[in-house]
Amino acid sequence: MSEENWHEIPRSEILWYPTIDYEKCTSCGKCVNYCTLGTYELQEDEGKKKTVVSNPDNCVVLCSGCDSICPAGAIKHPSKKQTQELIRELRKTYPLQRE
Ligand code: SF4
Ligand code: SF4
Repeated sequence: MSEENWHEIPRSEILWYPTIDYEKCTSCGKCVNYCTLGTYELQEDEGKKKTVVSNPDNCVVLCSGCDSICPAGAIKHPSKKQTQELIRELRKTYPLQRE
C-alpha cells in the first residue's frame, strides 16, 4: 500500500517509479518477487504473462534496487539527480512541518 505523502509532499507529485522496456522484458517475474512492496504485478494478457508496474507510488523514493536484478536490463528509474532537484522545488510548496 502506498503512502499518500512523502515527508509532507504528496507522493503522486514525485515522479519516481520503475518503467519496463517491453522490447526487452521476458516476463520472468523476478522483479515481482524482488520488490516486496507490490510495485509490480504479473498479469495475464490474452493467455500470455505480462509484468506491469501496477502500483508505481509504492516504489520507495530514490530506491532503484530492482534495476540491476532484471536479467534482461529492462527496468529503468528516472535520474536521481533530477528527482532530487524536483523534490527541492516541491519542498518550497510543501515545507516540512516542524513542531
Ligand atoms: S525482471 Fe525484468 S525481464 Fe523479468 S519480469 Fe521484471 S522487467 Fe521483465
Ligand atoms: S526500486 Fe525498490 S521499491 Fe522501487 S520497485 Fe524496485 S525494489 Fe521496489
